[in-house]
Amino acid sequence: MPRGRSAEGSPARLNRRRFLGLPAGLAYGLSMDLTKMPAISATLGSTHADRTRQRDTITVFLCGDVMTGRGIDQILPFPSDAKIYEPYVQSATEYVALAERLHGPIEKPVDFSYVWGDALDEFERRRPHVRIVNLETAVTRRDSFIAKGINYRMSPENVACITAAEIDCCVLANNHVLDWGYGGLLDTLDILHSANIKIAGAGRTIAEAEAPAIIDVPGRGRVIVFAFGSGSSGVPRNWAAGEDRPGINFLEDLSDRTVDRVRASVRRVKRSGDVVVASIHWGGNWGYDVPREQTEFAHKLIDKVAVDIVHGHSSHHARAIEIHAGKPILYGCGDFLNDYEGIGGYEAFRDDLALMYFLAVRPHDGQLADLTMVPLQIKQFRLNDASPSDVAWLGRVLNREGATFGTGVAQNEDGSLQLTIR
Ligand SMILES: [Zn+2]
Repeated sequence: MPRGRSAEGSPARLNRRRFLGLPAGLAYGLSMDLTKMPAISATLGSTHADRTRQRDTITVFLCGDVMTGRGIDQILPFPSDAKIYEPYVQSATEYVALAERLHGPIEKPVDFSYVWGDALDEFERRRPHVRIVNLETAVTRRDSFIAKGINYRMSPENVACITAAEIDCCVLANNHVLDWGYGGLLDTLDILHSANIKIAGAGRTIAEAEAPAIIDVPGRGRVIVFAFGSGSSGVPRNWAAGEDRPGINFLEDLSDRTVDRVRASVRRVKRSGDVVVASIHWGGNWGYDVPREQTEFAHKLIDKVAVDIVHGHSSHHARAIEIHAGKPILYGCGDFLNDYEGIGGYEAFRDDLALMYFLAVRPHDGQLADLTMVPLQIKQFRLNDASPSDVAWLGRVLNREGATFGTGVAQNEDGSLQLTIR
């Protein structure tokens, strides 16, 4: 796993410094004064023994949709055929042209690490033990598209742009991995496997699609990633993997029966000290509403299935965060990389703003010790440090949306946002 990364060192120390110094700086509140609210770490771990154990946390990096297909694929060294099959757009290069019209020319081809931009510095600084993304594209050169209006593909030779960020696990249970049919899915599985990237949520059979990615963190434990795609995110029901049919780990519904099915999968694998992530592609693309059934399902995953982190995605912008029984529920992590620059209509949601989520979890009890988010902005298909006003805007949104769940954020001196509980 962590290719070239030390499992020792900074995460625990860095986080501990944060605990002791918090709440650090500015806080955003509409009516509440968040400077008076405790950082989650300060609340959850205040004794000396707790602080000692925090050195043993596992730091997990999560983000939402990483869409390196279509326009982004076109600026990478080995673009696919630019032809696409959308009602109004016939070439993926048109998405590049839209972005260039807005923010100026992109010097093509870019190198494989280009798209990650300033995120790479954050990885270097924070050194998470495990990096998990939702890869929202097929990785294939196939041309047998599914007629659904939008089909994302990245060419196999461009997979180096995923390894450039040392991603450990790609979640594939989403509404684009089968855009180029079973062939496209099988290519995606093969190519990620050859690139030494673990996969969760899709496979050649239901057994494979249900199987988690297991990532060892030497000396600290394991992170186990189960991934699921819900119909509410636009995944067609017939994309569900079967006994002999490739596909995704489809969530039929959010009922107790489904909770039981997930519990059976988790029980087969989870050992004491494992950190279990349930990564779910669910809900619509826009808007902040969190349906009650999502909340109830997430609570059951934590209470009955022993899930430690609920990693929700599909929305193009960040949604609320909840802490339930000391464990985080990220209802929607938002887009992390997309080629939507210059596409109008939903500017108010600011899908150009992305968040890196760094979660420090204590493997001995699965409790969250710290959640720090780093805001970035997608510009010229590259992640850039967000401006102070954009950081402030995101802080206000997370406070507003977190209010009903009892969470907020405070801004650290380095411009990151730290989760607070009310
Ligand atoms: Zn999606």
